[in-house]
Amino acid sequence: VIGIEELAAKLGSLTEVQVRVNAPMTEYTRFGLGGPAELLVDAKSQDSFIDAHQTIVENGLPVTVIGGGTNLVVADQGVTGAVLRFCGNAIRLEDNTIHAEAGAILQDVVDASIQASLAGLHTMTRIPGWLGAAVYGNAGAYGNSIHQFVRSVSYARNGEVESFSQAECEFAYRESIFKRKKDCVILAAQLELPSGDQLQLQSQATKIQQIRDAKYPPDMKCAGSIFKNFLFEKLPYEVQRKIPDSKVTGGKVPSAYFLEVAGAKGMRAGQIVVADYHANLLYNLGTGTTEQLKDLIRQLKHRVYDRFGLHLEEEVQYLS
Ligand SMILES: Cc1cc2nc3c(=O)[nH]c(=O)nc-3n(C[C@H](O)[C@H](O)[C@H](O)COP(=O)(O)OP(=O)(O)OC[C@H]3O[C@@H](n4cnc5c(N)ncnc54)[C@H](O)[C@@H]3O)c2cc1C
Repeated sequence: VIGIEELAAKLGSLTEVQVRVNAPMTEYTRFGLGGPAELLVDAKSQDSFIDAHQTIVENGLPVTVIGGGTNLVVADQGVTGAVLRFCGNAIRLEDNTIHAEAGAILQDVVDASIQASLAGLHTMTRIPGWLGAAVYGNAGAYGNSIHQFVRSVSYARNGEVESFSQAECEFAYRESIFKRKKDCVILAAQLELPSGDQLQLQSQATKIQQIRDAKYPPDMKCAGSIFKNFLFEKLPYEVQRKIPDSKVTGGKVPSAYFLEVAGAKGMRAGQIVVADYHANLLYNLGTGTTEQLKDLIRQLKHRVYDRFGLHLEEEVQYLS
């Protein structure tokens, strides 16, 4: 096993690869929490990304692939091993199909779809982050999630490029096979969308953008919703009957509802607070720690469990 500095030099000698040793993860994540990663590696092309991934694995260092860092909570003690990003961001259109590399900013893919008069992704306006992670976590908003449009996803595994069809991705609410198969790293996705009216799509997108910018000011240090919502049909009958009809949309009940009833709004642990207008939105006032965030998450889980007997499950991904 070689040392970090030596591995950094080896990775740095690969074409289209940039390496940073002891990289502060506050700079690479929207929550702005946590300590440094031993290595932060950026690869620009698919080949260099696969090379870098293989080099790290072969040298026995743990590796996590991330994107824009908008759904991540990094441990205060930092990240052991390498954090790797695929920065390839090509977006190509062919009839009703969009081919996008994992490093494409999701908003750019959304914009390209609207430009091409393709419908569906427009409701994901202002979901931050990159395309790869949107597939990984089956991101969605306002009635649509990305799995509806995925035709196939190419990924790398042990240095080989393979692909999954939509069915093979085993998508579910905020879930995909990639959450269980960490050795498969997403390279690109092919999305197929129905045609739509460009003006209508654009005007819906603008409305969504306005709502979202008010809810999540662009400089807010957060990860969007902390907890997943609940599928109504999966809730115990005792809980179902307590939920007002108005709180069920698209078969889901927002965790914010349970959190609000449990008195979460405005709660605080150190520099981490629950928004006073949205009980499932936790944010960092500036110098918060992951320990404070975890403390608040624990308290919220207890409250909802005590009141409803429900287990909240994090939507955010932990990185340590
Ligand atoms: C203000 C705000 C609002 C949000 N609103 C929504 C919303 O409405 N709907 C929604 O679904 N989400 C929402 N999110 C959460 C977040 O934007 C999404 O989860 C997004 O898809 C994360 O993208 P990212 O590139 O930042 O991923 P990251 O945070 O970098 O990574 C997330 C996970 O994906 C994995 N991953 C990333 N890239 C790859 C890859 N190439 N191969 C394999 N695994 C990979 C990482 O290991 C990690 O586990 C919101 C977040 C914020 C901050």
